[in-house]
Amino acid sequence: SLTLGIVGLPNVGKSTLFNALTRNDVLAANYPFATIEPNVGVVPLPDPRLDKLAEIFGSERIVPAVVSFVDIAGLVKGASEGAGLGNKFLANIREASAICQVIRVFDDPDVVHVDGRVDPGSDIETINTELILADLQTLEKALPRLEKEARVQKDRRPALEAAQAAKSVLDAGRTLFSAQAEVDTTELRELNLLTTKPFLYVFNADEGVLSDEARVKELRELVAPADAVFLDAKVEAELLELDEESARELLESIGQHEPGLHALARAGFHTLGLQTYLTAGPKEARAWTIRKGWTAPQAAGVIHTDFERGFIKAEVVSFDDLVGAGSMTAARAAGKVRMEGKDYVMADGDVVEFRFNV
Ligand code: GDP
Repeated sequence: SLTLGIVGLPNVGKSTLFNALTRNDVLAANYPFATIEPNVGVVPLPDPRLDKLAEIFGSERIVPAVVSFVDIAGLVKGASEGAGLGNKFLANIREASAICQVIRVFDDPDVVHVDGRVDPGSDIETINTELILADLQTLEKALPRLEKEARVQKDRRPALEAAQAAKSVLDAGRTLFSAQAEVDTTELRELNLLTTKPFLYVFNADEGVLSDEARVKELRELVAPADAVFLDAKVEAELLELDEESARELLESIGQHEPGLHALARAGFHTLGLQTYLTAGPKEARAWTIRKGWTAPQAAGVIHTDFERGFIKAEVVSFDDLVGAGSMTAARAAGKVRMEGKDYVMADGDVVEFRFNV
């Protein structure tokens, strides 16, 4: 499933952040029948385009896209050796599509740091090392089998070669995600290795760090090209308790202009390789989540499987063209509304109406 697994050392603020992710009125209002697992937190993806659409179509409500995070508490040094609950945690990470590491950069003498000091670089290395060791174990188990298969089946050779290349990358202490140019990771898919997953970094910071541009830049560079989000987990939890005006004041007091959860939702969406298309009518203006590169019938299938099976065509207008024209009728008159067939590849921000047989 398309989720990010939250990992991090103890006492970095994972639970604090996760509590903020699970306290969510938007979801309860829009997905009343969804059963949400207790270890899954969901954040709406902020999208000002939906407000505009609701205005144009007179929609009663807005339904944003969402990003899901799974709480995978307790990854510590030694997890790959199966110490304590290690194996269960690694199995949970395996099910996530991307990994979201929370890193502590707040200073608080009352909160003990497991290694006795705040050192983001070393925290990242600790987690990477555990994941790398877990992948090496998987490879060491798989290699003898792959060697045997490659001896009798020519078409298994690329898989063996990819596994061997992966092993040398991991032996050098690097993640497979950072070595995509050298290793054909599509050949490794069957092994579901942990370090092939994209990473997103959340720096749990205090006001001092958040307002220190040089420090933020330095931390961004530490994890680049991965996305980095800076927030104060304690403040995020507090923001959800406040009305809009007080929330804005609290954010301003720490020099921020939006909740960190907004940035987290955008970064999570980006890390997962997702995009949205939009639908609108008098009932609702809504964003639908698809993968980049999906065709119109695949996109229709997100609304209902019948839409994919019975797909005839999609009536598509880009958001900007629609807003420029001012209404659907005006956009049609201006020739901005296109009829697209089953091979059409969706673009971000397409406003769509599907035609289908049932
Ligand atoms: P976890 O072990 O990673 O889940 O960490 P917790 O969320 O339980 O946080 C550990 C402790 O750090 C708790 O006492 C939190 O209140 C505190 N904490 C979490 N985030 C922050 C923060 O941004 N600033 C400060 N000062 N304390 C925090």
